[in-house]
Amino acid sequence: MLKKALSSLFAEAHIVDTALLPFSECRQTLPRLLEEKEGFAPQSVILFLLPYYTKKPEGFSAYAAPRDYHHFIKALYATLLPQLEASLSPYRFYAFTDHSPIDERHAAVRAGLGVFGQNGLLLTEKYSSYQFIAEIITDAPLALLGEADIAPLASCLACGRCRDACPTGILRGEGEDCLSAITQKKGALSSEEEALLRREGSAWGCDACQEACPYTERAKKNGTIYTTIPYFREECIYSLSTALIETMPKERFRQYAFAWRGRQVLLRNLKLLNK
Ligand code: SF4
Ligand code: SF4
Repeated sequence: MLKKALSSLFAEAHIVDTALLPFSECRQTLPRLLEEKEGFAPQSVILFLLPYYTKKPEGFSAYAAPRDYHHFIKALYATLLPQLEASLSPYRFYAFTDHSPIDERHAAVRAGLGVFGQNGLLLTEKYSSYQFIAEIITDAPLALLGEADIAPLASCLACGRCRDACPTGILRGEGEDCLSAITQKKGALSSEEEALLRREGSAWGCDACQEACPYTERAKKNGTIYTTIPYFREECIYSLSTALIETMPKERFRQYAFAWRGRQVLLRNLKLLNK
């Protein structure tokens, strides 16, 4: 648990799910990201969750309905890091998400934020799999930040619903690709891929394994699944069409996660779906 003054900094950004972990408990995946920071000897990790679910959009993934979380996290770190550095000088703080020196899911489970899901995602009681994980790595000793509750490496119910729901079979070890990756491929799709997109009606991403999960069912029933962060509730798009994407100004289009592969990839998918 973070000390009160630190958790207040996160709470100002509406981030309420935080945890601490000694760096020594982390599984390093890209150590060079820290090695390149001269003289930096990591001691502690502040992990936090960014829940993003508002509602399931029509024919695309729920994470793509709000604006891209990378913009949110960039602005957050621009505010948060100087505050942490000022309050805990001379210690250094480096922030990550996605492209991280540590295995984020492993660290989040170890820090007690959730469990490993057989759908390959972190599962939490509040949000199921509908959250991003982010972390700040520091050379400040853990005792200055708060207390860590190190949790066992727990896994989900292993009920198999996600595997049964997976449209490509990749979760059952049958298919070669995830539908989400197929929707994001550049260039022409194969006739099998086109047929899959049409069958599943997905213009971007795939939430089948997340929607089938009992954690999701429970989080929806309990009403906890919804994001606590205003950024993810504002300016959401719940329906995509060729006309909407073709006429969307460049600056607005760039705010959404589906922009990263360029407009043509999304337009190709929408045309396949006759949208
Ligand atoms: S996102 Fe869809 S295709 Fe990918 S693993 Fe989950 S259910 Fe399967
Ligand atoms: S659907 Fe079942 S097996 Fe799959 S992640 Fe959820 S709890 Fe685990």
